[in-house]
Amino acid sequence: MIPLRAWPAALRSSILDAWSVVAPVECAGCGRADRALCEQCRAQLAPRIFATEIGSLETTSALRYEGAARLVIVAMKEQGRTDVVGPLADALSAALTAALAGSVGPIELATVPGSRAAYRRRGYEPVALLLRRAGAPRAAGVLVSVRATERQKTLGRAARGANLAGSLRASQPLAGRRFLLVDDVATTGATLLEASRAIRAGGGIVTGAVTLAVTPLRSPAVPATSPDSGKPPHRQP
Ligand SMILES: [Zn+2]
Repeated sequence: MIPLRAWPAALRSSILDAWSVVAPVECAGCGRADRALCEQCRAQLAPRIFATEIGSLETTSALRYEGAARLVIVAMKEQGRTDVVGPLADALSAALTAALAGSVGPIELATVPGSRAAYRRRGYEPVALLLRRAGAPRAAGVLVSVRATERQKTLGRAARGANLAGSLRASQPLAGRRFLLVDDVATTGATLLEASRAIRAGGGIVTGAVTLAVTPLRSPAVPATSPDSGKPPHRQP
């Protein structure tokens, strides 16, 4: 039998989805048997919409990167658990809606290009998968990697910025185009800031950033809006 890893990404995703229906699975958040996501962990994925400032970048996020939410995101990104992408995509969709509320004129989504090694390891690209599942427009492929970088998670905060500085560039002139950056998790924000710098250097405008989750260091303890208000996040003057 051909190893699952060798199948094309879309097909692999479909196979994993189908397999989770017939095979017993564990909750991606707490490990409880027989459910892809138990009710308690699913409740932790209800979007809350946090507004944070990363450098000069206004960033809208749906979840705090902690507890069950963090474990479910890690499972989706690193453990092949594409069966939990649905609730995560719903949360990202809420953050996108909040970030785009009240905006006038076209805004394109832009994502940070992932490394080929990461794609080979996973068989899919997490942010693209989330956006597709969220029904969002396909992100414009306007950024390319100039050089390989160390895996960010192995580095400290200061080293992350140095590792990424100048690592991206625009693949085409971007004058007159506006972009909303999208990523899965903002920790130090170094990746988003480098992407923003590269788009601006290419002549584009960055209206802000949206992430599925943000590290608790960056997010306030109380969300900017209640989960059900659907209003854009309130910002302090
Ligand atoms: Zn659970």
